[in-house]
Amino acid sequence: MLQELEQIRTVSVQELEAAADLDQLEEWRVSYLGKKGALTQALRGLGKLPREERPAAGQMANQIKLALEQAFEERQEALRRAALAAELTEGAIDVHLPGRAPALGHLHPSTQTLREIYDVFAQMGFYVLRSREVEDDHTNFQMLNLPPGHPARDMWSTFYTTRPGVLLRTHTSPGQIHAMREFHPEPFRVILPGKCYRYEQVTTRSEHMFYQVEGLVIGHNITMADLKGVLLQFARLMFGPERRLRFRPSYFPFTEPSAEADMDCILCGGKGCQLCKYTGWLEILGCGMVHPNVLRNGGYDPDEFSGFAFGMGPERICMLKHGIRDIRYFFSNDLRFLEQFA
Ligand SMILES: [Zn+2]
Repeated sequence: MLQELEQIRTVSVQELEAAADLDQLEEWRVSYLGKKGALTQALRGLGKLPREERPAAGQMANQIKLALEQAFEERQEALRRAALAAELTEGAIDVHLPGRAPALGHLHPSTQTLREIYDVFAQMGFYVLRSREVEDDHTNFQMLNLPPGHPARDMWSTFYTTRPGVLLRTHTSPGQIHAMREFHPEPFRVILPGKCYRYEQVTTRSEHMFYQVEGLVIGHNITMADLKGVLLQFARLMFGPERRLRFRPSYFPFTEPSAEADMDCILCGGKGCQLCKYTGWLEILGCGMVHPNVLRNGGYDPDEFSGFAFGMGPERICMLKHGIRDIRYFFSNDLRFLEQFA
């Protein structure tokens, strides 16, 4: 009997250590400590022993029972911990992984170019002044020396609204009138950036909506030399210190004299290439001395004041700077284009 108990103890301890999970552990409990378990059966058999052997066998059986129960609880606790640890590891979030960066947007290339232009003119003491995009015929045309029926109106194909005399501005020049009325009677220098609208066919060089930056300087003794100096400084700060400009006579109703300014080609430096169509020059803006009628419409006496104005397209400036061939990229919202300006 004692040998039998000893064997139960040895085998059961080995099996207990081999129990790999809680299910196996339960099987073990049933087979040794359960109602029909080996140890229980052995205890029941005690009564069949001779009287003198019973105390020793009973004591040993109880010791084994206690030892096995204790071992069972320890093993159960160890397996529970292991199961919990495994669960935590499998379902865990690894806090050491780098986070996903949020997708940040960036400024539109036109806006970026506008800001570069602001910087250049701010260095020369220009204010940035905003003015309305929906204009009246009076300010968009008449105040700028373009009375109804004036043939030069053909240069600005216009989006008219259903309200008579109200239109989408075709250029930023009506801002000249607003600026003069705001600053009158002081001398001033401003740039007037903003969107303009033309009822025109969309091509690689023209869009029906585009940005323009108008510049206006009004003061005493302002001459064409000031105009040339300011624009040359602009070209050099924007495109490099070696840039040169040339001025060609042109026509705008609101300036007299008027000119187109060309810059020597940034690619070939004037030798002639595909970009400059083998002329060596790139047209960058229109300009001129403010027409006396426009000065008067703004409230300034042309005998006392003079001024110059210019207008340029930031998209065109951006196209020249970055070798962009088609203006339609700017507003077609193709991310492959826009993301190159991130
Ligand atoms: Zn060239």
